[in-house]
Amino acid sequence: EAKRVGGSGWRAYDPTSALRRARSRLLEAEMRNSLEQGEFFLLYQPQVSLTTGRLIGAEALLRWQHPVLGMISPAEFISISEANGFICDLGQFMFTEACRAATGWPSHVSVAVNISPVQFQRGDLLADIRAALAKSGLAPNRLHVEITESILIERSEELFATLEALHALGVTIALDDFGTGYSSLGYISSLPLDKLKIDQSFVRDMVSDPTAQAIVQAVTTLAHGLGLKVVCEGVENALQCEMLAAMRCEEGQGYFFGRPQPARQVQALSAAHSLLAGGEAIGVSALA
Ligand code: C2E
Ligand code: MG
Ligand code: MG
Ligand code: MG
Repeated sequence: EAKRVGGSGWRAYDPTSALRRARSRLLEAEMRNSLEQGEFFLLYQPQVSLTTGRLIGAEALLRWQHPVLGMISPAEFISISEANGFICDLGQFMFTEACRAATGWPSHVSVAVNISPVQFQRGDLLADIRAALAKSGLAPNRLHVEITESILIERSEELFATLEALHALGVTIALDDFGTGYSSLGYISSLPLDKLKIDQSFVRDMVSDPTAQAIVQAVTTLAHGLGLKVVCEGVENALQCEMLAAMRCEEGQGYFFGRPQPARQVQALSAAHSLLAGGEAIGVSALA
């Protein structure tokens, strides 16, 4: 441990942060070529109606399988791609790919794509989305976009106009990871939102922690008061599922229903009568 070596109190060279920076630079240098080489792909995580148990949509989650470095997590590469603007190229790829995949699913199943704040500032988000819809022929109301509260900090006219334009196209807008940011309720209610996704940290603690349970209940009531549907992330067991249904949350997403998976497996899940008994328990292979 470098820090403990210097007993006089000065900070020595930190090998872990130096390594982290070197890895960041390596990933940054590799990503453009990796996109061209087809090393990025999307997996889709089931979203389920808590009233009917049917599959109603899937969230597209980006993966990077590098031939030498192996599988790289979005938690690591998204922030790097945001810093250098490459997220706009990734975004274009994601919209094209997600819309194409959804055309292979039944028409009541939607696809949700995550949008980074940087895509609102740089790049031409609206044009990318219009192009992906036109190329795939997907009905715009089957495309959902997920924005995070961090987008809302700036309160720019441009952001508002882009959201309005997306809404006018028929695209559904969800506020992701709700509860982890600092958005003002007054401001949120002025935006053209359709859905609120309650962050998985609250859902995870709900069973053992009355405070987390109270938060989920309060946010659900609030969302309904604003005319928004509620999606709960990180549903991992039947008990959470029952509690959320009792609170009148409309939709659930989490390992209980299914992990992020290839598009054709989502298609198989759409045939199941109900996923409320647990998607993984039913077994995708049995349906395929
Ligand atoms: P997110 O949008 O909130 O996505 C949900 C994350 O929670 C996913 O991790 C998912 O695999 C994980 N998850 C889902 N169900 C469960 C569960 O039951 N338990 C637990 N413990 N975790 C669960 P993933 O795929 O690693 O993505 C992490 C984050 O990276 C995403 O959070 C999103 O912010 C970002 N991300 C992923 N793909 C994209 C993308 O295509 N574009 C952008 N801009 N960001 C992305
Ligand atoms: Mg999301
Ligand atoms: Mg989320
Ligand atoms: Mg999350």
